[in-house]
Amino acid sequence: MKIAVIGLGVLGAAAARSLAAAGAEVTVFERTAPLAGTSGTSFAWTNSHSKNPRSYHDLNVTGMAEHAELAKESGANWLVRTGNLEWAEDAAGAERLAASVAELTGRDYPVDWITPRRAGELVPDLRVPSGVQDIAFYPTEGHVFPALLVARLWGEARERGAELRCPATVTGLSEVDGRARVELADGTADFDAVVLATGRWTETLTAAAGHRIPMADPDAAGSATVGLLGYTNPLPTRLNRILTTPKLNVRPDGGGRLIVQGLDLDAHADPAGPPAADGDHARDLCSRLTGLLAGTSGARLESLRVGQRAMPADGLTVAGFLDGSGKIYALATHSGITLGPLLGKLAAQELLTGHPADSLADFRPQRLIGKSDLPTLQPARFAGQQ
Ligand SMILES: Cc1cc2nc3c(=O)[nH]c(=O)nc-3n(C[C@H](O)[C@H](O)[C@H](O)COP(=O)(O)OP(=O)(O)OC[C@H]3O[C@@H](n4cnc5c(N)ncnc54)[C@H](O)[C@@H]3O)c2cc1C
Repeated sequence: MKIAVIGLGVLGAAAARSLAAAGAEVTVFERTAPLAGTSGTSFAWTNSHSKNPRSYHDLNVTGMAEHAELAKESGANWLVRTGNLEWAEDAAGAERLAASVAELTGRDYPVDWITPRRAGELVPDLRVPSGVQDIAFYPTEGHVFPALLVARLWGEARERGAELRCPATVTGLSEVDGRARVELADGTADFDAVVLATGRWTETLTAAAGHRIPMADPDAAGSATVGLLGYTNPLPTRLNRILTTPKLNVRPDGGGRLIVQGLDLDAHADPAGPPAADGDHARDLCSRLTGLLAGTSGARLESLRVGQRAMPADGLTVAGFLDGSGKIYALATHSGITLGPLLGKLAAQELLTGHPADSLADFRPQRLIGKSDLPTLQPARFAGQQ
């Protein structure tokens, strides 16, 4: 089977790998460069916090397990699965955290309450604020280095014959004589099927194919789709796991660099006017970091980026054929780092065998196609999910 994949972020790379592994002849069309989209600017925490309804929680848990499976096959330089520490610093936050832990426990999701002393054993340079007694530890969570994950997925696709056309902008999609036609600036190419993995640009191409999937506006300043991520200089601090704390989320980014995120600052994130790496927000993030981890005094940001989330308009995953002809398959989701390898595998199975995956039943594009009156999504700082 000849299959085109459009977009080479985490989802496109995962789909290309699974399709090529199953024997499909795969061509990937990427407009700019691998990782040019959201996958290149992501906090990349593998988790299933505050993910509702239950089927979406379960999908994310299965996504975490798929990372672990992939890691077993030939090692994983892209995955650090050492858990996450979280705490609250005021009464309202403590109530929210207790409710979230209770919900997760009820779902058999691994989480333990630990003491600040135990947290200090896990992260020796951690400065837990005085007054914090209870820390939630989620041992199966972790973080990904997205470039290394795409290297692994796309590398294995390439070894099995997948080809990349880049730069190549797909301008339209259609079904012609029972085949899927990809339209490009310099002509057309026909395939047995197409996988659309164009992230936050999904609405444009699905509209061109006559089945518009509404996406939350990725350019809206201060909205649910935008988030600031600070990338520090290399720092002599001991941190080998994720911290999600009231003032700062932080994770290692290799070579002593850290990625920092203050969700309350996302209200100021504007893709049209990214803040300076040495401006007020940057200084604020660095000062929060120094309060949280020893060894970070003098920290500075090498860059402060505005990430733009790929969010189907109801906030949930889209996975499935655009119509009954089974020629154009759309994959679009937030939490695509957690879900990427799983969604790539399931999409390839559905395309090549025709058997629908039960776990995707709630995530078909038909629930959204043509809809325009969906409520506005809550920003991550209120929704409690990443
Ligand atoms: C601030 C922030 C924090 C996040 N934190 C987390 C987290 O902690 N955990 C988690 O799981 N997820 C997180 N995410 C979400 C996650 O990063 C994304 O869901 C994921 O990267 C989306 O991958 P993708 O492959 O769908 O899209 P992308 O990476 O955007 O890839 C789409 C590709 O398609 C290409 N393309 C678009 N249109 C065309 C066209 N017409 N022709 C050819 N190519 C085209 C683009 O150039 C791009 O390379 C976060 C996102 C942000 C912004």
